[in-house]
Parts: sequence; structure tokens; C-alpha cells
Amino acid sequence: MVNDTKNNFQTASELSVTSLRGVGQSRAKTLEKLGIRSLLDLLRHFPRDWQDRHSAENFPPPEQPALKAFFGRVVHARSLSAGMRLSLFKAEIATGAGTVSAVWFRRKNPRFDAMESLKKEIYPGADVWVVGRAETSVSGKCEVHVEEYYLPNEGSRLHVDRLTPVYPLTEGLTQKFFREIEWQALSGFAKDVPEFVPHLITAKRQLLVPEQAVKGIHFPQSRLELEEARRRFVYEELFFLNLAWQIKRRQTREADKNFTYQIKRSLLTPFKNKLGFELTAAQKRAINEIFSDMQESFPMSRLLQGDVGSGKTAVAISAILLAVENGAQAALMAPSEILAEQHFATLSRVLQGLPVKIQILTSRLKPKERNEALGKIKNGQVDIVVGTHALIEDDVVFKNLRLAVVDEQHRFGVRQRATLKRKGRLIDLLVMTATPIPRTLALALYGDLDVSTLDQMPPGRIPPKTFFSSEAKALEAVRREIQKGRQAYIVYPVIEESAKQDLLSAKAEFKRLNEGVFSDIPCGLIHGALKSADKIKVMEDFNSGKIKILIATQVIEIGIDVPNASIMVIQNAERFGLASLHQLRGRIGRGSGDSECHLVGNPQTPESKRRIEILLESHDGFRLSEEDMALRGSGEIIGTVQHGDFGFHLADLSKDQEILKEAHEDAEQILSQDPILRLPEHESLRMRLRDLYQEHWSFIDLA
Ligand code: ADP
Ligand code: MG
Repeated sequence: MVNDTKNNFQTASELSVTSLRGVGQSRAKTLEKLGIRSLLDLLRHFPRDWQDRHSAENFPPPEQPALKAFFGRVVHARSLSAGMRLSLFKAEIATGAGTVSAVWFRRKNPRFDAMESLKKEIYPGADVWVVGRAETSVSGKCEVHVEEYYLPNEGSRLHVDRLTPVYPLTEGLTQKFFREIEWQALSGFAKDVPEFVPHLITAKRQLLVPEQAVKGIHFPQSRLELEEARRRFVYEELFFLNLAWQIKRRQTREADKNFTYQIKRSLLTPFKNKLGFELTAAQKRAINEIFSDMQESFPMSRLLQGDVGSGKTAVAISAILLAVENGAQAALMAPSEILAEQHFATLSRVLQGLPVKIQILTSRLKPKERNEALGKIKNGQVDIVVGTHALIEDDVVFKNLRLAVVDEQHRFGVRQRATLKRKGRLIDLLVMTATPIPRTLALALYGDLDVSTLDQMPPGRIPPKTFFSSEAKALEAVRREIQKGRQAYIVYPVIEESAKQDLLSAKAEFKRLNEGVFSDIPCGLIHGALKSADKIKVMEDFNSGKIKILIATQVIEIGIDVPNASIMVIQNAERFGLASLHQLRGRIGRGSGDSECHLVGNPQTPESKRRIEILLESHDGFRLSEEDMALRGSGEIIGTVQHGDFGFHLADLSKDQEILKEAHEDAEQILSQDPILRLPEHESLRMRLRDLYQEHWSFIDLA
């Protein structure tokens, strides 16, 4: 009796998947690879797609094969041999759409008849569901290459005649098996799926209760039910993210960094004098905002946003010098070695003659040099460390790190930002990005950051004229610019040619141009596969003007700053995303005077044509990024790394901005009443938040 009661209380979160029929130790191991241990884990493993497997009423048009399901009566069936290895089974099935010809392929097996069960089940007069790639032949006959088939019975209901879920899987599992165990788990435990969202909110936003939602997400009865179920879980994902950001923001503001900055100007003034230009009003404003953050008692968390070429580096250096003036160390992290080298060179130049020690830390350092560098960083002999990811490795220990600047933040995950931050106890953080993002998206991506925007370009900038050109025209223009004493980039989508793709490659084209049309002009080649030292050498030579034409891949997309370069040719332009094209183009038009960008290529799809059109029309990074989001969805812009970081399964920030806004408001409201979720009615909220954002990667700190 007692035992029985206890069993009844065992819930989906305690029961292992092995309690399901058909799941033994070995399958449980495989499921664990997907992070699934308990029945609740299983129920929260959502489909990645839903196929419409109602019996098709139309054949697909010729040449457009599609996955379809058909239900009908077998009119005729026979098995055939197809060569040495394959057996074939063919059946004519009379369906509502007409007669389809279903084909099964099986590998031959010398020991048994691979078609045996088919022969038993598929015979004239039998009713059957077939699912597979359907194609209409020119003669108008519909052929289905069968992937799954079902005899109509109790069990077939989860696979056909419905919206059928498709799950993210791992090797050793099939969709069919997965649907069966989900169905089993739902039948017994859908009611046990806990509610994490407070009642007030579920009522206000009219969210489905978990039981309904979890059923609807796995086996929806209709599109509408699926939409509602999805909305519920998307809301949940975004709600918890917003809670986490807002708690983090508040916690940051409560921390005391125990350090006071004074604006001494002992380094700042000489730096300004050396710059050779007046800072723009936008730059001055950003510097003021940063300086007042740094003078606060709590650590700065600020995003500096500004289109390519708006002059973020000078702002960053100002912040760095304020730190150094006050006896602290500062770190500047860049997403590529080339960019780290460039920052190092810039800093070395503008700080020449000043009592500041700069160290570079990238994979180019030999072990001995690296050790020396680490020693100096640890004992405080260097003031500024510039580097790549190498900066956040475990063995990098600072004596007195107080400011971290992360350039081109969108290239890094939130996790890396957090790791860098842990290098100093309570350090000021400035992250910079040239990818302007819509405000709603910023809330989700950088919810804990204050934002400064450089909305003004340095004076005298004339945006590059952009053309869609033939190669001949573009190369002629290159020669013209070189004759004027300027320099050029020619960009290719790949490093090397490959048989699979018909793309121009940097390596092959370097050889062709360098030995051909441009044999009289010094050309250089740069791409990601070069050794560090070679990359550095090429960039130095381009910087100094020794190289006139730089033939490159996308490695030069970010941050590179050579003002004398006035023309860029982008080959196979249709192969680049809008954001990349804009970033690439941002490499020119940095000095004064005119500049040109020539897009060369052969756009075939409507999207690639549209991308090029937009680029010809606009230089506004903000507009471009919105267009980009509309064309591609947010996932691509944010980068998959970050999506993973947030643990989203269903949310798509380009589609779900409305839900994001609601979730943001609701999180604000909850926290305004209960800042650290101490109220008893928020207990489950708190537990869930800890599971999601604390245990995982110490994003927040909830006791
Ligand atoms: P980004 O914002 O893309 O990082 P950079 O910091 O690389 O831009 O600056 C782009 C170019 O503009 C650099 O050559 C830099 O020296 C120059 N620059 C920056 N600020 C100014 C300014 N206020 N006046 C003139 N040139 C500037
Ligand atoms: Mg930059």
C-alpha cells in the first residue's frame, strides 16, 4: 500500500527513460547524448519540424519532388531484382489523388529475403499508408520513393494522417522510435510537466497550460494548436532569458569594484595630440559615457555600437588609457589574429614615447615568448595586453586587470565574454560591435549592457560608390586607382578551388592575376590558412604600401584599416551574406577622397539578387542589418554559437520579437516586486532560472 502510493508520486522528472517500453540500457545511453535522462527531459526535447502527413490530395508538380504521405488501397504489387545488390518492391496504390506508384528499395541479403515482410503486408486489396519523396513523372504518374509505410491501425496514428513531429536525433535513433517513446511518455506523464511561469502571467498572456502545450508541440491536432503550443514555449525561453539578464544587470550594479579612477590626462592628452584628427561629437559623447561608467563604484558593462569606420578604436584606446593612467592593466580582445596585430600596431604607434608597455598575445608567439609574456602580465610589467582568444586561456593571469575591451563582440559568444571578465575580480567591460542590431534583438542579446552609439562618421568620409560590374571593368578600375597611388582589395569566397564548387579561389586567382594582368603591380595574398607570421608580413607590406593589390578571402572582413585602399572588388559576390558584404565594403572609404566597390558575380536566386540590390542602394548598416534579418532570420546574424549559449530550442528572434517584448515587460514587472525571487510563489521560477543560467555557465549568481 505504502509502496504503491510512493510509486504514484514518482514524477516525470524522477523517472528514467528506461521506464518506457522499448528503452533499455543501451538506448538510454544513446538518449543521454541528447541530454535526455528523465521522462521530463524527453518531453522537453522538442521537435525541430512538423511534416504534414495527411494523405496528399495533389501530386507534386513535375520536377518538384516533395515529401508526401498517401493513403490508399493496393491494386497491384510485385517484387523485382535491381542488379546485384538491390531488391525492389513496387506497388500501385489507388489514393484520393489518383494512383501512385510506390517503390521500396532494400539491400539484398544472401541469407534471407529482404522483401519478405513487404510481400506479406502489401498485397492487392490491402490498405496502406506510404510516406516518402514523391515526384510526378513527365507522363503525369506519381512515384513515391517510400521511406516509411504503415498499415492503418492504432499505432499508425502517431506517424501518419497528422502533423508529424521530426526530432533532432543522434546516431542510432530513428524518427519512428522517437515518436513512439514521446507518445508513450506523453500518455502517462504530460500532466506532470511542471509549470514554471507564474499564474498571473500565463493568464495575462493566455498561455496554454503545460500539459496542453507539451501535447500540442509533439503531436499537434492542427496548425493552430501547434502555433499556440510553440508560442507558450518560446515565451518561456525568452522570459527566462530576460529574467536572467535583468538579474545580472542588477547584480552588477550592486557590486563594488573598490577602485576609483581619476582623469589625470597624463596619457590621454598626449594620445589626443598624436591622433592627428579631432574626435567626432559622437566619439566624445561615447568617451564621456564610458568615463563616467568607469568612475562609478560598480563595474561598467557597456556596448559601443557603431557602423564600420565610425572610429570605435579611438574610443577604446581612450578607455584603455584611463585605466593605465590609474595604474591598472587593460586587455583588448579581437576576434582574429590579423585584427589583433593591427590593434597592436595602432597602439604602439599612438603610444610611442609614452611610458606604456604593450604586449601582444596570440598563437603566433613561440612557447618561450609566450611564457615570457605571461610572466610580465602576471607581475605587472605590461600595462596593455592585446590578443585573440588566447587571452582567455586558463594560464593567462593578470596582476591588476581592471578593464577588458572586446572588439567585434558579435564574433564571440557570451561565454567568452564572461570568461574574460573573470580574469579580474570586478572589472569594467566594454564590448564593441559594428553590427547594429534592432533594439528588440539587443534586448535579447545584450540585455545586461548599457549602449553607446557612434551615429556619426568622421568628417570628409565619402561612402564608397558601389557598382555591379563585369570582371574586366572592375579590374580596369583597380588599375586606374593604383595609378593614382591608391591601393586595392580583391576578395574571393574560397581559399582553394574545388571540384565540387564552381567558385573563384584566392590562391588560383592570385597566381593568374599576379602573373597576368597585374604582373607589373606588386600583389599580395592573404587568407585564413596562412601561418600567422606570413599573415602579419603580408598585412605589414600592404599597410606600408609595398603591396598595392591585396588578394584575399573574407579574413579581411573585420576591422582591417588601411585608409589608402580606395577600391575593392568582390568576386562571386552572390556567395556572401549581406552583413559580410557590408563589412567588407567598410574596408574602403576610410581615408578622404572617393572610393569604389565593385561587386562581380552571377546572382541566381531572388535572395542573392536582392542582397546585391540593397547593397547598391544603401550604406546604412542599421538598415542593412534589418534587411539581412528579414532575408535570413536572426539565427545567422547572431551566430549559432550564441544561440547555443542561450539554450533556445524554439525561439527565433527574427520572428518572435513580439513575444520577446512581452517577456521583457513581464520579467521587469516580476523583478520590480521581487528582485531576487524570494517570494514563495516564485520558488519554481527561481529553481528553473538556476537550472538554466547558473548551473550551466554561472551567468548569474542566485544563492
Ligand atoms: P571602426 O569603428 O570600424 O573600428 P576604426 O576605429 O578602425 O573604425 O576607424 C576607422 C578609420 O577612421 C581609422 O583610420 C581611424 O584612424 C579614422 N578615424 C577615427 N576617428 C576619426 C576622426 N574623428 N576623424 C578622422 N578620422 C578618424
Ligand atoms: Mg574596428
